[in-house]
Amino acid sequence: MSLKDLIVNDRPISVSFEFSPPKTDEAEASLWTAIKRLEPLQPAFVSVTYGAGGSTRERTHATVKRIVEETSLEPAAHLTCVAASRSEIDEIVQGYWGAGIRHIVALRGDMPGMEGPYQAHPDGYRSTPELIAGIRRIAPFEVSVSFYPERHPDSPNHHHDVELLKAKVDAGASRALGQFSFDNEATARFRDDAARAGVAVPIVPGVMPTTAFRGVERMASRCGASIPAWLSRAYDGLDDDVESRRIVAAAVLADQVQQLRGLGFDQYHFYTLNQANLSYAACRLLGLTPKDLS
Ligand SMILES: Cc1cc2nc3c(=O)[nH]c(=O)nc-3n(C[C@H](O)[C@H](O)[C@H](O)COP(=O)(O)OP(=O)(O)OC[C@H]3O[C@@H](n4cnc5c(N)ncnc54)[C@H](O)[C@@H]3O)c2cc1C
Repeated sequence: MSLKDLIVNDRPISVSFEFSPPKTDEAEASLWTAIKRLEPLQPAFVSVTYGAGGSTRERTHATVKRIVEETSLEPAAHLTCVAASRSEIDEIVQGYWGAGIRHIVALRGDMPGMEGPYQAHPDGYRSTPELIAGIRRIAPFEVSVSFYPERHPDSPNHHHDVELLKAKVDAGASRALGQFSFDNEATARFRDDAARAGVAVPIVPGVMPTTAFRGVERMASRCGASIPAWLSRAYDGLDDDVESRRIVAAAVLADQVQQLRGLGFDQYHFYTLNQANLSYAACRLLGLTPKDLS
């Protein structure tokens, strides 16, 4: 698909943006600048992550609550099974419903500090499908979940990943958000295999801007995403040259959404890293135009 066909395209499109709860006043100001810049693009929802082991419980709650109160956006709160009993998690879920949150991104999560193999809390939800069922018992939340185009590090194989997504959907999930991946063919393969296995929910690629390339490499090594040799080569020698990294990242992102659109994807989940510019530009290339909210 050419850049022109990407921008001028009649197929409906929908995007979502992921943010992390800020740690400082300065980070909070920067997050809100990003949220306000992206709001006119009218994303389907914006999601707010939950720190490993529940370490951002209060900050995640405060951020989604402020999004409900101060914007036209629909927030989705991430929630993991880690380091909490069922009753503690149920209390958080009830708090979200009371605060007007209607969408949860339900996850297994990782051990605090990514230390050691995953171990379910003795009184906790033991898996993501169990967590989803627990959430849906409390209230009719919309539930999104993860999928891994290149296999989760704890998964024995691709078939297991597809079957696990099916179990999550059977438990009540209605959308799968992809771990970031630069292997667009793998993402399309996952979508097609999931459809063949009877998974009938949107499979949404996760798109990660690469300006902070060394950080992206670190994240990739933890989550099972591969870094292609051509991408490393593009960033080679640019560690101290942020301006060139920004230009490379914009080109990489434009190429990726172009390829994904060509593969038939009409929904995208952007890992914004709390910065608006690249995600905003990619949405413009996908043909989205901002709405005047005044
Ligand atoms: C869209 C998205 C958003 C995310 N948001 C957050 C976030 O906000 N906070 C955060 O901390 N992390 C987040 N993560 C990262 C995620 O928590 C980790 O990747 C985690 O390792 C897996 O969680 P999951 O829900 O994807 O796992 P699942 O897809 O449920 O499972 C992953 C693998 O673990 C296996 N598994 C399940 N239970 C066990 C067990 N008891 N023992 C061993 N293996 C088991 C499964 O069989 C499967 O192979 C996010 C990931 C994605 C893709």
